[in-house]
Amino acid sequence: MKKLIIITALAATATNLALAQTPPKPKMIETIIDGVAGFQDTPMEPDGKWHVHDPARPLPVVVTPGNTFSAQATPPSDAVVLFDGKDLSQWRDKKSGGDAQWTIDDGVMVSAKGDIVTTNKFGDIQLHLEFREPTPPKESGQGRGNSGIYFMGLYEIQILDCYINKTYADGLTGGLYGQHPALANSCRPPGEWSTYDCIFTAPRFDADGKLISPAYLTATLNGVVVQNHQAYRGATNWRVPGSYSAHAAELPLALQYHNNSVSFRNIWVRNVPLVNEP
Ligand code: MG
Repeated sequence: MKKLIIITALAATATNLALAQTPPKPKMIETIIDGVAGFQDTPMEPDGKWHVHDPARPLPVVVTPGNTFSAQATPPSDAVVLFDGKDLSQWRDKKSGGDAQWTIDDGVMVSAKGDIVTTNKFGDIQLHLEFREPTPPKESGQGRGNSGIYFMGLYEIQILDCYINKTYADGLTGGLYGQHPALANSCRPPGEWSTYDCIFTAPRFDADGKLISPAYLTATLNGVVVQNHQAYRGATNWRVPGSYSAHAAELPLALQYHNNSVSFRNIWVRNVPLVNEP
């Protein structure tokens, strides 16, 4: 069954990192198909198959994860530890550049008040990160436990409570938000720890700013492959397709605050080139 809802004001929770740079639109139409709320008043993806955030797009199959070897993995010797339960010294508030406003509770970092970015800048990275969705769950769709990892502050892999929570396919956990859905929905229930292991290859631009190669992501969520060397269509955005603009070879990693308290622990990266270049 299809239902249309006209939204005249921009929903306060329907934001992402890029929205701050996107002028608000006066009106949008939310479409609900079989209980999945999304949009069909958005542009088509470049391959012409689906609208951005299309509720008709097939959802990833649900896979119940097993016990993963990587939970609370000890960082390898060349890792940059971004959070070890002690302090937020590796992070800054994205907006002000001052101290990160997230809290630490019993060795766990909890999202609050705004996006955070790393003090260090990275290009290609291997990332390990563990997160936990709040329980009991509140709200639904994109309002339930939303956060996200933004490689280079630009390219998101979504974090959302997708355990028995319906939302559009390109907005589920493990998806490149607004672009490529996850290959599987391997979310654990809220209140349980989940593990992301990601291999991110930064985009390459030539001296004139022309894109030579896109950003790529390979990722597992709870030991299940959710992205396999998937190219980003550009920087993550909301209601419009991703697009590239030339940027520095290294930029801070960001974590999103989306009005939900999402917990994080054991975050580390290996900051090494991940492309064999001649
Ligand atoms: Mg997000």
